[in-house]
Amino acid sequence: MEKQIIIQKFGGTSIGSPENIPNIIKILSNNYNYKNIIVLSAFSKVTNLLEILVDSLQNQKFDESIQTSQILKELHCNWVKKLNPIEYVKDKMFAQIDNYFEQIRSIIQGVSIVKELSKNVENRILAFGEMLSSSLFFIYLDSQNIYEVSYVSAFEIIHKINNEININNEILKEELQLNNIIITQGYVCIEDGKISNLGRGGSDYSAALIGASINAVKINIWTDVDGILTASPIIFKDVESLNQISYTQARELAKYGAKVLHLDTILPAITKNIEVRILNTWNLDFEGTIISNEKMTRKFAVSILENVLKYTISKNSEEKYLKKVGLVLSRLSTEGNELLEVISNIDNTEIYFKNNKLKTDDAIICLINPDISLIYNEINDYNYTYDSRNKIIKIFVSSINSKNLLNLIYKNLQKSLKV
Ligand code: ASP
Ligand code: MG
Repeated sequence: MEKQIIIQKFGGTSIGSPENIPNIIKILSNNYNYKNIIVLSAFSKVTNLLEILVDSLQNQKFDESIQTSQILKELHCNWVKKLNPIEYVKDKMFAQIDNYFEQIRSIIQGVSIVKELSKNVENRILAFGEMLSSSLFFIYLDSQNIYEVSYVSAFEIIHKINNEININNEILKEELQLNNIIITQGYVCIEDGKISNLGRGGSDYSAALIGASINAVKINIWTDVDGILTASPIIFKDVESLNQISYTQARELAKYGAKVLHLDTILPAITKNIEVRILNTWNLDFEGTIISNEKMTRKFAVSILENVLKYTISKNSEEKYLKKVGLVLSRLSTEGNELLEVISNIDNTEIYFKNNKLKTDDAIICLINPDISLIYNEINDYNYTYDSRNKIIKIFVSSINSKNLLNLIYKNLQKSLKV
């Protein structure tokens, strides 16, 4: 029987930590019964540094650009040194790094002469992070001689034309005939014939697009935490991992403050009903949080979004009321604030927006699959909404009360885990 396909996407800390490479090799050998398409991010911090480099070029601070490129080169050389493969592999890797940084140096030189940085050149620079991580990892895996591994450039696969994304899965299929593993880059693509990218954090999107186009059976997103947790480990000590969560639930959790991956980007996979798992490269015993269309979480989860913008519009006069609602909605949306909720009460309407800039007095607590009998007394005094289908409660609370309330709720809900 033909082997099924898995997408293995490794984030920047996973692939960027040489001490973790043995774990990645183990992951691949654990999945030997599948064909694996590896989608790689740049090493951690690299895209940020490339953005800084682009910035300095834009401001014609060429010394700074050179400095940043040196920092970047050192970061990659240190990765090789720490990984410490046998001598000829090391030499090959250093040669590859030299080659890419020679290209970066030429670009800096070119820009310093023409004193102009086009979008195209900018995108070219931003692509080096993924090109470096993928080619270095390819050299390493190829040298291990345990897998038939092939390198396919994402520029051949992901094409954006007039804002529409096309995946060329023929190349992937062909390569998979001959090889068990393909290595490619996340984030980068060709847009209208030129090097471009899918936006920050776009590697998850690449993984989902490729997985959906090639009918992968699973998409594994490897990060550095045990998947989606019952609460933020920064706020609570005794958090647990969720085994599963529905896409809608995970999205709400992320929307209301949880630091889960960029969930919009995995949508191509979810709509095709491909199982998406969030896994931890540092803890291979953890089986992952499965995000899917159907399976809601059996455990509870909580998150909190602070600094919410709240507008209360009184319903005194019908005409004025409608006008005001319209005004608030259009003004705040054009300022880039995301609309969260519109709650209609008897004599007023409350409109809530997410905002990243201002400190405000309002917060929203989001509860996924809470045992309501355990928290009813706590939340009864507050305004809240309940989505019974998806088992999601949102509580609208002032910032002064939010921490206490979240603590109380979390303590009570913990009891549901202990049965
Ligand atoms: N390297 C890119 C970023 O840092 C893409 C990704 O990692 O998803 O945003
Ligand atoms: Mg990421």
